[in-house]
Amino acid sequence: MAANPDSPLDLLWKEYSAVFRDLDDLSLARWLAQTLGQLEGKAWRLSHPLLGAYRLAAQIGQDKHIWFKRLANPPTKYTESPCCRAPILPMLTRDVRDAGLICQHCNDTLVPFDDIPDAVREDLGKWADDYQPVHAVAHWEDRQRKAAGNYEQALEDAAKKAEKLLGQAGGDLTTRLLEFYPAIIWEDQDECLEVRPEDIHLQAQV
Ligand SMILES: [Zn+2]
Repeated sequence: MAANPDSPLDLLWKEYSAVFRDLDDLSLARWLAQTLGQLEGKAWRLSHPLLGAYRLAAQIGQDKHIWFKRLANPPTKYTESPCCRAPILPMLTRDVRDAGLICQHCNDTLVPFDDIPDAVREDLGKWADDYQPVHAVAHWEDRQRKAAGNYEQALEDAAKKAEKLLGQAGGDLTTRLLEFYPAIIWEDQDECLEVRPEDIHLQAQV
């Protein structure tokens, strides 16, 4: 699931995923379709355990080309993704301007930024533009760190801002995306700023 398939964390996820690898194709297809039904109509934190399980199952499903076999029908609102033909299940990340909304099945771009519906695209772009300089603090070079005086404090301030902005993403912005997609996932962490899911509180309106 991450960049390095042999990292300890990836090996652990691989171990977890055995439960789905042992399923026959029909059982796996049914589990995926039924879980999509449970996910429908809501915004989900990436850290949610149900979603973690879904992503593991979906990964195995992709390897087995499960959606091509049409063994089980997902709920009708989940239309076919243009990227990999799996049911449409987009994820919002801080890279939305460059990467668009990400497919949970193949990790490719599901909806390019320019194709996000007008009603929410502008505010998403603004949010991403606000987020970018905050995230960048984690990657400041020595020169910038020195210029800031107290870098630890600058980092802490940036993490606080990131918590707020991510709360905005998980609240107002994803709620508005739900008008266009059957379900939506949002990345509820910033590993570079050490913002964890439990640090982020949802904001309904901004
Ligand atoms: Zn895809």
